[in-house]
Amino acid sequence: ELPAPDADFFGQLDGLSDDERAVAATTKAFMHDHVAPIMNEYWNRDEFPRHLIPELRKLDLLRKVWNEDGSRKPNATVVEGLITMEACKVDVSTAVFFGVHAGLAFASIALGGSAEQKAEWLPKMMDLEAIGAFGLTEPEGGSQVSQGMRTTCKRDGDGWTLRGEKKWIGNSTFSDFTVIWARDVDTQEVRGFIVRAGTPGYEVKKIEGKTALRIVENGQITLTDCRVPDTDRLQEVRGWRTTAEVLKLTRAGVAWQGVGCAMGAYELALAYAQNREQFGKRIGEFQLIQNHLVHMLGNVTGMLATVLRLSHMADAGEMRDEHAALAKVVTAARCRETVALARETLGGNGILLENGVAKHFADTEAIYSYEGTNEINTLVVGRAVTGLSAFV
Ligand code: FAD
Repeated sequence: ELPAPDADFFGQLDGLSDDERAVAATTKAFMHDHVAPIMNEYWNRDEFPRHLIPELRKLDLLRKVWNEDGSRKPNATVVEGLITMEACKVDVSTAVFFGVHAGLAFASIALGGSAEQKAEWLPKMMDLEAIGAFGLTEPEGGSQVSQGMRTTCKRDGDGWTLRGEKKWIGNSTFSDFTVIWARDVDTQEVRGFIVRAGTPGYEVKKIEGKTALRIVENGQITLTDCRVPDTDRLQEVRGWRTTAEVLKLTRAGVAWQGVGCAMGAYELALAYAQNREQFGKRIGEFQLIQNHLVHMLGNVTGMLATVLRLSHMADAGEMRDEHAALAKVVTAARCRETVALARETLGGNGILLENGVAKHFADTEAIYSYEGTNEINTLVVGRAVTGLSAFV
């Protein structure tokens, strides 16, 4: 009898509370029962399985992280991380759908909305009755979007006129609203708006042909003299500071994506190595294959320690930008190495979708580049440790 693959070698998750353990188990069961059977079909179709939203609603996951008034539960970052990890072991796209809605979009309203706006949107978002998207990146403004934002807003009577373009916006092809970040042409301040689907001048086109995260739908948004009432301007946004606060919160979640993705790939590779035979032996008996597996396990173990500590710091209010940035840099890089070793362990079968690892391998490339590329997050940490900024 060979040991069952288990990526938590040090038992780091044994210290979780019963509630935390329950959320992880619920997510794991959902992924196994509902996502795993259909994910390859939806990957091939380049489409998000929207029919799963009512199933996901039954888990009531957002209420494990947020309170209805937009404040966070005491262990919100750990819980959010566990949901993300369990989802990513099976499918990173599902975690991204959830992260965009329950993280980026929800946090924008929780941190930037008035009491009325929170009361209008947050309960519906918790129930997945209203799905959100987060529109920050632009075709010409990725890493430099804070300085180079070209989307503008202009006060116009009792409302605002928005003009510009947004690129890569997850969930926006079917979301009920997108939070659009725009620069005020008069004051140069960054402002946030809840732009509802169907608003004249707001158009979303699905980005086709992605080679990673094909189950998430990303949209390119065009805002052509799009009129939004002042009541849908996020009333408590304090310029870019608020946008940055949202991103700091969600960056911890992206670090957990890398952990879950690497764990999933490791467990698949180990199971394969225990069964696949070459030269009359199981390949797991070969020293070079054991080296791959142990390297992967070492990566995963270090990554998990990093995100657990980061999440405890976040929940204690001690996490700074550079902490989240370092966790993202380290986990994304170790994830990339881990999925490549897993792919290699499966040989040619490693590039077939049906064997699982190929999807993790592809999805890692997106994890590596969004929520601050590795270079940008490196420079955030570099600035903190040297006291010298590489940014202009
Ligand atoms: P660029 O900024 O053009 O960077 C290109 C390269 O140059 C990178 O390697 C970068 O690190 C490097 N570089 C840039 N500046 C420097 C510098 N100063 N020093 C050193 N190197 C530098 N955005 C949203 O707003 N909402 C979403 O929902 C969303 N979802 C996404 C989903 C996916 C699948 C992807 C791929 C992206 C998503 N994004 C989203 C956008 C994402 O955040 C950006 O892709 C990311 O910020 C990088 O911007 P860019 O792609 O324009 O790359």
